[in-house]
Amino acid sequence: MFENSQLKDIIEKVEAGQRLGFEDGMRLFESDELYTIGYLADRVRRQKNGRVAYFVVNRHLNPTNVCYARCTLCAFGVTKKDATAYTYSIEDAVERARETLGRESITELHIVGGMNASLPWTYYTGLLTALKQAFPQLHLKAYTAVEIAWLARLTGKGIEGTLELLRAAGLDSLPGGGAEIFADEVREKICDHKIGADDWLAVHRAAHKMGLVSNATMLYGHVEEPRHRVDHLLRLRALQDETGGFQAFIPLAFHPENTQLANLPGPTGFDDLRTLAISRLLLDNFPHIKAYWIQIGMKLAQVALHFGADDIDGTIVDEKITHAAGATSAAGVPRDDLVGLIRQAGFIPVQRDTVYRELRRWD
Ligand code: SF4
Repeated sequence: MFENSQLKDIIEKVEAGQRLGFEDGMRLFESDELYTIGYLADRVRRQKNGRVAYFVVNRHLNPTNVCYARCTLCAFGVTKKDATAYTYSIEDAVERARETLGRESITELHIVGGMNASLPWTYYTGLLTALKQAFPQLHLKAYTAVEIAWLARLTGKGIEGTLELLRAAGLDSLPGGGAEIFADEVREKICDHKIGADDWLAVHRAAHKMGLVSNATMLYGHVEEPRHRVDHLLRLRALQDETGGFQAFIPLAFHPENTQLANLPGPTGFDDLRTLAISRLLLDNFPHIKAYWIQIGMKLAQVALHFGADDIDGTIVDEKITHAAGATSAAGVPRDDLVGLIRQAGFIPVQRDTVYRELRRWD
């Protein structure tokens, strides 16, 4: 089928179930054989997940956009004097979540925000406690590794101690944000105030060892090179070999608008699909690859289900971070739209909870 492919040896490796290495990853990222790469990723995806495509009914909650870090990649974080600065009181945050409960039967709150130096760390634990008390049925997936490392500085209790405080307050799992690109030389250009790769990985390692699952991300399509992407994916794979605590990997397409990198074009649709597919191939120990429709759009997310993705994220509701950077997708979508989109792509829609337990299936 791929007699003339330059990737013949990689095809053979994938078909034999062999693990791909750094050089394989480089050749895949430098290849324009999108159909071949997609075919291989789809093969692996079907072996792992069959004909199922997952989604979750969730809501995003971004408690504050005030952030002391001024990442050049970010259009969301602002200083507290900025006209658009906001910080929800704990009561307001609970009410926002309550409004959504009336509209859709959400099962998850995805909670991430800025590092607001005016707030005590007890705000972050207090928020979880209040949400858990008001909605004990909801899974609280909260705070990136970057936020947790920052809170650890405020609590003085170290990463494990801070995770314990958060868990006691209601934390159920960790989202995958803040990973960006692990290489220092890239972090210096896009997020020089953020923790480095080793610290990001250390937070997830600690969480996994405590029995908290998490996700992982990679922000691509800015100043990084293919070698940085491969390095990033292989570092995630190594931690997953060690702990097994990652559930899903989510490639995040960079949106330049309103960021300090607004001169960059952002990734193409070709690059979006190729990156998703290569992620599926390199991350052989990750159960799930997510096509984050907020960033790549609904139409491409649907196609991505044939390029290695088995999860299309969720209904989301009130997405702010990517929309601050010019995303033109909706800020949320009804459950039935996700079901229809997955069906039209030829897969069986499965509504899952945050830890991938099946809640409903549309056979
Ligand atoms: S990316 Fe996160 S840490 Fe950086 S400025 Fe934005 S909100 Fe703050």
